[in-house]
Amino acid sequence: MKSMHFEDLDIKKDILKALKELGFEVPTPIQVQAIPHLKMGKDIIGQAQTGTGKTAAFGIPMIERVNPKNKAVQILIMAPTRELSVQVADEIQKFSNHVIGVKTLAIYGGQPISTQIKALKRGVQIIVGTPGRILDHINRKTLKLGEVIGVVLDEADQMLDMGFQEDMEAILKETPTERQTAMFSATISREIERIAQKYMKQPEKIMVAQKAL
Ligand code: ADP
Ligand code: MG
Repeated sequence: MKSMHFEDLDIKKDILKALKELGFEVPTPIQVQAIPHLKMGKDIIGQAQTGTGKTAAFGIPMIERVNPKNKAVQILIMAPTRELSVQVADEIQKFSNHVIGVKTLAIYGGQPISTQIKALKRGVQIIVGTPGRILDHINRKTLKLGEVIGVVLDEADQMLDMGFQEDMEAILKETPTERQTAMFSATISREIERIAQKYMKQPEKIMVAQKAL
């Protein structure tokens, strides 16, 4: 089979330019499979190990969904740790480097909440954070999710292992039901299945076995 290129995935020019600068030439298997589904607006469950390129798989289509003229939060990404939240936010920032008017912010425990509140007030469309701190902001009304159109649960099994299940569900309930939802997990347990059943609309299952990079 002829190898796929990012150009074949119908990705917007300003994102393609960033990918080129980052040295991304060929999309990984999870990217080839997930990007078209997400671009069509479908919910997906992606089963893939670390290092398979999941951030771009959900990051690229989610950036494309943002309306830059709207300064409200439109994309919400949950990740299990501060480190992963920062990593994902940094990478999404890089992918959207040439997309005018799109801002990404990482929010997590351990950083003063006042710093995050100031940044939120300036207007950000993509939030990446740990469930605990996201919920803190919701409770303080410093984060409003009424205009969210896309939610990503990254490393969902790890979030459950860390005891974030209640927080995750409380956050999901704050977002509009018409949202698109993508969940990524190295393993698909019964609990993951239950969450998918409850919060996702006929999710497409995508599985990637091997490490791609
Ligand atoms: P995962 O979330 O599945 O663990 P990441 O999205 O963090 O994986 O990607 C792992 C590494 O591979 C990162 O350094 C990322 O920049 C790089 N990467 C991802 N996709 C590609 C690609 N298509 N081409 C080159 N490098 C890539
Ligand atoms: Mg990842």
